[in-house]
Amino acid sequence: MRIDDAYGRPLRNLRVSVTDRCNLRCQYCMPEEDYVWLPREEILHFEEISALADVFMDLGVDKIRLTGGEPLLRRDLPRLIRLLAAKPRLRDLAITTNGVLLAELAGALKEAGLHRVTVSLDTLRADRFAALTRRQNHAQVLEGIQAVTRAGFTGTKLDTVVIRGVNDDELVDLIEFGKRVAAEVRFIEYMDVGGATRWSMDQVVSRKAMLEILESRYGRIEPVSEQTTAPAERYRLRDGTVFGIISSTTAPFCAECDRSRLTADGMWYLCLYALQGTDLRAPLRRGAKGEELAALITGPWQKRSDRGAEQRLALRERAPLVQVARLKEDPHLEMHTRGG
Ligand code: SAM
Ligand code: SF4
Ligand code: SF4
Repeated sequence: MRIDDAYGRPLRNLRVSVTDRCNLRCQYCMPEEDYVWLPREEILHFEEISALADVFMDLGVDKIRLTGGEPLLRRDLPRLIRLLAAKPRLRDLAITTNGVLLAELAGALKEAGLHRVTVSLDTLRADRFAALTRRQNHAQVLEGIQAVTRAGFTGTKLDTVVIRGVNDDELVDLIEFGKRVAAEVRFIEYMDVGGATRWSMDQVVSRKAMLEILESRYGRIEPVSEQTTAPAERYRLRDGTVFGIISSTTAPFCAECDRSRLTADGMWYLCLYALQGTDLRAPLRRGAKGEELAALITGPWQKRSDRGAEQRLALRERAPLVQVARLKEDPHLEMHTRGG
């Protein structure tokens, strides 16, 4: 089954946040001192996530990415992975993690049936990591990345948010590191999403600027031509190394966007920038079954006309999406709740 939104975009890709908690405090995501957390009793149980995944799959979803907060903080996560990996209709089951707990968990994740891992890695320098994340876990993250390969995963990606004056002098080093650990590096433009309360346009390093930096070191860089709805544009260096750039801020890709997001407490969002979502937890806990839940998803998706990043690009004056007070009132607007 395929359902299309108002622009003909199918519902295919679901990001499931399994917790809003995190063991890092990245400056571009969680810069504040205090946060309002989702109430524990409202967090979906694994069986509830699995039941919702079935409904989404009935409607065409065949890719699920687990995220957070930090997904590896969710107790017994391999059990959820086992439940999801057993679904024959799921073609791709991935996770995005900050890597801190990966060295411990990579083997169990692989054994449970996880297909792919993306690790967020913004810097190779421990001092920078400490300043950027306000935590001291850099060595653990690097060990975690090695553990992913050892556990037998392939198709590993390393995601780097590039920020002017913070890590824009590490693009080459990160590509070289990616080569050594057999992972594809993807550079992400700094986005003005909910939670990025310190964002400003002058800190954004555009795709164009990133390519210039890389071409000055590697020579001509060729785009890889491929038909995909993945957010990254991929490029090839002369030695064959492939890397990606996710240019959500200066050249958004909303036209192809087949992604939606489910928060850990069962709110479903049609766009990273959406201010309102659909509560799927309440009907689920009331006992709603497949068809009723499917109708709650089909209706909003068929009406979906979200193009959040494109609308942001069209603004004359660009500032953070939401102010801190509003984030405290509704933590669902936070990137760490929504899952990125
Ligand atoms: N904690 C996990 C991690 O960091 O990989 C998963 C959740 S995190 C919200 C998902 C992704 O969103 C990470 O790769 C992170 O770098 C990215 N992200 C968070 N805030 C961002 C921002 N303001 N601009 C661009 N990417 C951002
Ligand atoms: Fe950093 Fe991810 Fe945690 Fe946000 S959720 S603070 S990006 S590790
Ligand atoms: Fe999709 Fe919204 Fe991101 Fe555009 S801004 S790519 S519509 S999630």
